Amino acid sequence: MRILFLNCFCFLFLFAHGQILKPEATEIWSPAPRVVEVDQQAKIPSDAIVLFDGKDLSQWENRWNGEEAQWSIQDKHMTVVAGTGDIKTKEKFGSCQLHIEWRAPHEVNGESQGRGNSGVFLQERYEVQILDNYKNRTYSNGQAASIYKQHIPLVNACQPPGEWQSYDIIFTAPRFNQDSLKISSGYVTVLHNGVLVQNHVELYGSTEYIGIPKNIMHGDASIVLQDHGNPVSFRNIWVRRL
Ligand code: MG
Repeated sequence: MRILFLNCFCFLFLFAHGQILKPEATEIWSPAPRVVEVDQQAKIPSDAIVLFDGKDLSQWENRWNGEEAQWSIQDKHMTVVAGTGDIKTKEKFGSCQLHIEWRAPHEVNGESQGRGNSGVFLQERYEVQILDNYKNRTYSNGQAASIYKQHIPLVNACQPPGEWQSYDIIFTAPRFNQDSLKISSGYVTVLHNGVLVQNHVELYGSTEYIGIPKNIMHGDASIVLQDHGNPVSFRNIWVRRL
């Protein structure tokens, strides 16, 4: 009886073990990722929301008064008109993948923070700095592709002024509970001209020019482009909700 029991046990063990070793046992078929196609000309994914295609500013408005965005458009790009103010998307976003191309003025004026300064603000609060840092030093946590005053970029991937550059940003939005407390931080990954410069870094809170980051509860919010007084240009802006 005891031998019979041991035989059965061994058989069951080997059977179960054999099942696990089958490749099919660890295949997962559901859910199947939905199909996204990428336009071979424009390189835009089919599920992206195009925020600027070079034609008009219909997706954008003045950040401060909600009126029409006053930045100029020529040759399929838009350019900051100094003093008209930041612009923001009419649509609001949470976690997202953002592609944006920018260009600092060909003619070099100013130095440090005064040269080709603009910025992309995620959820109107978290700035990925835009600055012409091609042979232009400034404080490291305020240079191009820094998370302003929070994270220094891993490398300086700047192109010369007048050249188009790209940011591909992956943003995980922070979360807050019903008591307005932050329960998980935001995170940002940035590729500058295809080079990894921010690798899933934690947002300590809002971008502050003076003082420490704040963590005031908020929900989805606009993407903002900064008017810092320099004629920085933008083109080919699209976003995917995550
Ligand atoms: Mg800036």
